[in-house]
Amino acid sequence: MTLLDVKDLRVAFDTPRGTVRAVDGISFTVEAGRTLGLVGESGSGKSVTSLAVMGLHRGAAVSGSIKLDGQELTGLGERELGVVRGRRIAMIFQDPLSSLHPFYTVGEQIAEHYRVHFRAGRKAGRARAVEMLAEVGIPEPARRVDEYPHQFSGGMRQRVMIAMALACEPELLIADEPTTALDVTVQAQILDLIARIQQERGLGVVMITHDLGVVARVAHEVLVMYGGRAAEQAPVDRLFAQPAHPYTRGLLDSLPRLDDADDAPLRAIPGSPPSLIAPAPGCSFAPRCARTIAASAEEHARCLAERPALDPLGTGHWAACHLPMVPSSGKAL
Ligand code: SF4
Ligand code: MG
Repeated sequence: MTLLDVKDLRVAFDTPRGTVRAVDGISFTVEAGRTLGLVGESGSGKSVTSLAVMGLHRGAAVSGSIKLDGQELTGLGERELGVVRGRRIAMIFQDPLSSLHPFYTVGEQIAEHYRVHFRAGRKAGRARAVEMLAEVGIPEPARRVDEYPHQFSGGMRQRVMIAMALACEPELLIADEPTTALDVTVQAQILDLIARIQQERGLGVVMITHDLGVVARVAHEVLVMYGGRAAEQAPVDRLFAQPAHPYTRGLLDSLPRLDDADDAPLRAIPGSPPSLIAPAPGCSFAPRCARTIAASAEEHARCLAERPALDPLGTGHWAACHLPMVPSSGKAL
């Protein structure tokens, strides 16, 4: 069942330097019980996309369609959006400490939305908080429910945030870099927790990350964004086995490998993200693309002049590239 259906989403906002086209025409779906990995560098538009889905894009111009279980969300009033945000879509962020209030116990904070949306009393709210803390794997939940955020470690605080997000039984969870601030072991535990809860509850999840390692761990489908547009979309196995877009390939090459020596340098993609105010006429990845440099003069000219459309390359696989690296081309990079 398609839970979230986003079509031709555009988000633009005015700045003194010009209009920023932060998201410039992306489409994707999230099925119930599945996880979409939304991948890109900072400034690729992935967080702006999620804020638009949440209706939190204040001051920005949004066009396109965002449907949750068939209901159009664009154009909803603040009141109706508040209900969608509180109950149907929940979000967790990178830094739980800035989202948790230091003066309230975690139990009070987990219960807060639940009590509002379910018109529950204090006792029922506390019971719900204990239940949620247990579900996210916090030991001794009946005791820890009365503690304050600073009494929890970073990983435990992120578990509290997840408990808060899930207390109202949302259909969709948006997780924006939820593990970036955590050390590797804790990161893996939190990702596994999200994956487990997602399976158990049949949740739709949007996992926003700059890290394809995170995607490999939790995602079913992947949307790779570059400069506010889709560079590539594919089922996760296909994306890792047969990346078609040179940018995806660059992200894969920059993943640390198990067989690398400890001191092997991480290969980042050289260059910087494209301008979102005055994008170049052709492919926005061209200035950083090794493939176009190796291409013929004619192909290179096309990359600079013509914006590549998102073309189908197989079942569920699309890439926006004039020279996709699909094996049939016989031209591996
Ligand atoms: Fe590189 Fe050209 Fe493909 Fe853009 S269209 S990613 S410049 S090969
Ligand atoms: Mg971000």
